[in-house]
Amino acid sequence: MQINGLVMGKYRIEKLINNGSFASVFRAKEELTNRIVAIKALPKSVYPSGRLRYLMTELSAMTLNWGHENIVSIHTVEPGEDEYIAYIVMEYIDGSTLHERMAAESFSPSRAVNIALDICRGLTAVHSQNIIHRDIKPQNILLTSDGTAKLGDFGVACILEATDDIAATVTGTRKYMAPEQYDGEYDYRVDLYSLGLVLYEMLTGQFPFRGRNHDEIKIKKLDAEIEFDHELPEELHGFLQKVLHRNVHSRYQSATEMYQDLDAIRATWYAKTVREELTQSPNTHTTNEILSRTREDLRLSPDLARWIELEIHYQHRIEEERKKRHQLEQDTSACYERAINYIHQHSPVDALRELKEVHSHYSAEVGHSNQVKKIFRSLIDAFTIAKAPSGAKDIVRLVELLPANEVEELKTWFYQRSLPNHVDQSHDIPDSTGSDIEDDGSDLPLAPTADSSPTQPLLAESVLRSLHEKTKYPHERVAAQICRTAENFTRQKNKRARSEYKKLAELYVESAAHFIDTDDWEAAADCYARARLAYVAAKRTGSARTMANEAGDCYAKLAEVMSRRQLWEEAATQCVLSADHFKHGESNEAAEEGWSNATIYYLNAAEDACSAGDVERVEAYCQKIFAIAENIQRPSKAAAAARRLMVEIEESISTPSQVNIQEPERYPPKSVVTHKDISPVNQWQARR
Ligand code: ATP
Repeated sequence: MQINGLVMGKYRIEKLINNGSFASVFRAKEELTNRIVAIKALPKSVYPSGRLRYLMTELSAMTLNWGHENIVSIHTVEPGEDEYIAYIVMEYIDGSTLHERMAAESFSPSRAVNIALDICRGLTAVHSQNIIHRDIKPQNILLTSDGTAKLGDFGVACILEATDDIAATVTGTRKYMAPEQYDGEYDYRVDLYSLGLVLYEMLTGQFPFRGRNHDEIKIKKLDAEIEFDHELPEELHGFLQKVLHRNVHSRYQSATEMYQDLDAIRATWYAKTVREELTQSPNTHTTNEILSRTREDLRLSPDLARWIELEIHYQHRIEEERKKRHQLEQDTSACYERAINYIHQHSPVDALRELKEVHSHYSAEVGHSNQVKKIFRSLIDAFTIAKAPSGAKDIVRLVELLPANEVEELKTWFYQRSLPNHVDQSHDIPDSTGSDIEDDGSDLPLAPTADSSPTQPLLAESVLRSLHEKTKYPHERVAAQICRTAENFTRQKNKRARSEYKKLAELYVESAAHFIDTDDWEAAADCYARARLAYVAAKRTGSARTMANEAGDCYAKLAEVMSRRQLWEEAATQCVLSADHFKHGESNEAAEEGWSNATIYYLNAAEDACSAGDVERVEAYCQKIFAIAENIQRPSKAAAAARRLMVEIEESISTPSQVNIQEPERYPPKSVVTHKDISPVNQWQARR
């Protein structure tokens, strides 16, 4: 056949593709249709009459499997001319043989498996027609430009009468023959063995059985000892051992079965990648990219890939849940153990805290955390031995530490303000920023306190500076830094001072919330009080009022705790602080309530002092009561009782012989004064 020559008057020969031992293959163009075809020209010399049956079988095999995606399709058979007995006109595969590709490059496991899967599919079709290919080898597998593998060259194929029939001739390429094929008694399972050898070669670049001649190779095949490269994916070890097993009964029994196992391995690889991505890379974009690349590489159908992804996600979630549960069980059991130890050590509050920890874990899951928090807060309060509110006291004491000139100046301002016909001069408070935002002057106490002299008037900035000279909590160090920056801005008359004070206030609000969560009312009150001062300094009147009310709530809560422990003086101090803050917050009703409660607690303190015969303390407490009572709206019964007490004491002092100080009647009587009746906490709870 001549290049450019016309064959049969219709095929223009373009190129010789292969000049093989049995045939020459050409690329040609069918002139009528412009279709590119491959023409396999079969020489008469190779097909004497005895071999013609091979030609007939090849034609039948190709025709029977026409149109299969993984088998080279035949177009037609033309009678040969000159030295050729026939021309097989086939679809032209614009690619190369697997043999050529393997010589040129190494194959990734996914590529090798995909080719094997294609050939498995082709073999399933071929075997279903009772055809054994008998010559599966890299030279007879054609790869299209998109990577699809097609089975070609059915030149030595054999058509059995039935699927359980066996072939009885030694045919094929000895290197790729199954052990039983050498002996001439075999069935279509030999094709699966040969495909196993091809797959091993694709994966490792080596032939699994080596020997100097075919007999030695055959012996090795019968030993079936295969070596596995350490880089070969583990899932393939078992697969290759099975497919290359010496005993045909231990191998795959059908191409479908082999296909299913290989397909499962491919799915396992995808699942592995999904799992790795789920645990390693939190970046959704990268994950999607990697998964899409892997899907493409494995040629996985989108449906199967989606199913695998869902399955892995589901497993992952179950595993996460299991881990969480396990951790919860461990934490819970540790909490219970600690709680039991605390009970043994007679520390019920600590034991309760541990129980609270356990319950908050569980209650979060069922959405009852608020109820649980409340219950435990009440339980812990009931057991808590009150401590002195050092933070709250600090604020008052620090005012006393202000420089004398500032105190004098502030006192003057305060007393002017306290005059009966006082016109509110709060605008007169020096505004270092020159702002026109109204200052409500709320850094000054607006009501009497229990101290003999009224609490020093506060200038928010000065108090804040003093407060930050010492730090106790970590957040206070950050606060001190902000405070210094704000002061610097103030000195420079820079308006940014206000935003710094606002920042300071926000920091304290955040800290207060944290302390409330841990039931530390004292620290929370302190934070809100500081937040109020910071908002005053930032000229944020409304926010300062809100903070004042929050602080009022917290001090009221502390007062309640103290009163339950019968620490009357401490309870009274907290009430006063609470009332002062409520007043700043313009919650006049709550402020009145606070001062009124303070008089009751001071009266109880005075009665205790009276029982102890400490006349001086009785007098001091009564003075505090009178000072408070003078400025509250409602008539104070406690003040009346305090006056009676003072009269009794004076009388007993003037007539010493009759000194017989009885246990005074409490006012209101102890039995009546329960925290339920007077508790500002009740109001606090109602307002929350
Ligand atoms: P050999 O004796 O070398 O095995 P053969 O005579 O049995 O060859 P085939 O194996 O069918 O003939 O084809 C030989 C070569 O021709 C193939 O290896 C391939 O390179 C090329 N070839 C065969 N069929 C096609 C086709 N349809 N499209 C493109 N190339 C083909």
